[in-house]
Amino acid sequence: NVAPNDLSAFWMPFTANRQFKKAPRMFVAAKDMHYTTSDGRQVLDGTAGLWCVNAGHARPKIVEAIANQAAELDYAPAFQMGHPKAFELANRLVDLAPEGLDHVLFTNSGSESVETALKVALAYQKVIGQGSRTRLIGRERGYHGVNFGGISVGGIVTNRKMFGTLLTGVDHLPHTHNLAKNAFSRGEPTHGVDLADELERIVTLHDASTIAAVIVEPVAGSTGVLIPPPGYLQRLRDITKKHGILLIFDEVITGYGRLGTPFGADYFGVVPDIMVTAKGLTNGVIPMGAVMVSKEIHDAFMQGPEHVIEFFHGYTYSGNPIASAAGLATLETYKDEGLLTRGAELAKVWEDALHSLKGLPHVIDIRNIGLVGAIELQPIDGQPTKRAFAAFLKAFEQGLLIRTTGDIIALSPPLIISESQIGEIVSTLSGILKTLE
Ligand code: PMP
Repeated sequence: NVAPNDLSAFWMPFTANRQFKKAPRMFVAAKDMHYTTSDGRQVLDGTAGLWCVNAGHARPKIVEAIANQAAELDYAPAFQMGHPKAFELANRLVDLAPEGLDHVLFTNSGSESVETALKVALAYQKVIGQGSRTRLIGRERGYHGVNFGGISVGGIVTNRKMFGTLLTGVDHLPHTHNLAKNAFSRGEPTHGVDLADELERIVTLHDASTIAAVIVEPVAGSTGVLIPPPGYLQRLRDITKKHGILLIFDEVITGYGRLGTPFGADYFGVVPDIMVTAKGLTNGVIPMGAVMVSKEIHDAFMQGPEHVIEFFHGYTYSGNPIASAAGLATLETYKDEGLLTRGAELAKVWEDALHSLKGLPHVIDIRNIGLVGAIELQPIDGQPTKRAFAAFLKAFEQGLLIRTTGDIIALSPPLIISESQIGEIVSTLSGILKTLE
């Protein structure tokens, strides 16, 4: 019986306590598109939990698969041993992933997937005799989780500042948030500068033979839904290929149907060397991540037993049976219900609905892609206001869950959302935006 404002109740005390202390908000149940609060209210999930519950809540097939697996084989050691469900899931993922990504390493989260990808990239360069390639390149406003590698390549300075040097030799590409005031971009760039060419500048500055990998989110999600200009990711692919640099896509948010395609790589038609996933892999229900790598990378590690031994990596719970069963049931649910392309079918409805908010007070930009959206509010003197958070509180009171980061309201509903529920989200937000101070 811990009070909601008691820090010990929360496993993210430093981020959660500020908000929980002021306004305890508790969910006690969830089904399909709705949460139930501790005071018995229904809240429409406009964020798929934390961008992860792509098939909606408490889906029977997934619930059943978890229960059955727990009864049948609850755990198998991740080292030296295997079990069929992990192999089955790996095979399904290879079928689903873009051509060329045909090996899988399982982890337990997005952050672990990022660390795994960075270690694979550095180890691969060493294995192929390119050990001088130790530099990693991220992107401003990139988010790659909370572990040391992830915050080093991540582009959020405040997340790094307490931890000294972190990984050395890291550079950051400029972000792709080319906001022109009142541009109301509809997923198109507000100007056409090819930001990817900045990578050529970094390559020239440091010498290509010192750079191991570039990591980007196809669409930067949690820092505000920053959609790259057309051609940007292809240009990154061309430059990295030319210079022997690995390209890593962090698809923790963009994976599993969020953009209306299985992965962001499919949406943009660009295949990375390494793809980082988590969240929607198990419908956000059981912690699990999967890092997919090219055959070329996999085969380099298999040249001889010493290479396999050299690269020591893996987690106690990697590919554990219950998570694997949840992953398989999740992929089946996506397939049975056509959810991996539903974001494309609904994209126009979603776009028109969001853009109907144009012209409301404080709204300076609206962005959308697949079933992701962002409504950006006007900062004051370049400083974020508390308006978006005020909108979050009002929306919660009115039965809608949204997410905010600075002045940006982000939306990413479960892919099972109906057109009328899209209408509901927009009409609730419209009412709120009209009354925001
Ligand atoms: N990468 C990206 C792009 C993410 O959005 C997130 C989580 N929001 C992570 C990594 C970290 O995932 P996790 O919280 O599961 O560690």
